[in-house]
Amino acid sequence: MQTKLQSLIEVATSTVIGFIVSLIATFAIFPILDIASTPIKNFKVTVFFTAVSILRSYIIRRWFNKPTAEPKSIDKTEWMHCFECEIEMPIKEKDGDVFCSNCGLIHRNFY
Ligand SMILES: [Zn+2]
Repeated sequence: MQTKLQSLIEVATSTVIGFIVSLIATFAIFPILDIASTPIKNFKVTVFFTAVSILRSYIIRRWFNKPTAEPKSIDKTEWMHCFECEIEMPIKEKDGDVFCSNCGLIHRNFY
């Protein structure tokens, strides 16, 4: 399981590598397609498509993170993501509330 920082580092690394690979690729594809360009134009095109790519990834990720309509049934062996521990942790139920079994953080929104 990744921490939020590890996720950020992975996304940033992927974006930077993707940008460099795409920039290099513009120097291959534009001459093949007889598109007149300059290194500055190649850079601008790559910046544009990188921005489009980040937006696409964000929208798809948020879409797949939508809560489902049916509430999950809670049982004592279930694990949930704890925003304090930043990992999946077993949960405890007490008086109708659900808590992280590690740090005691209350989980009010279980979809
Ligand atoms: Zn916790």
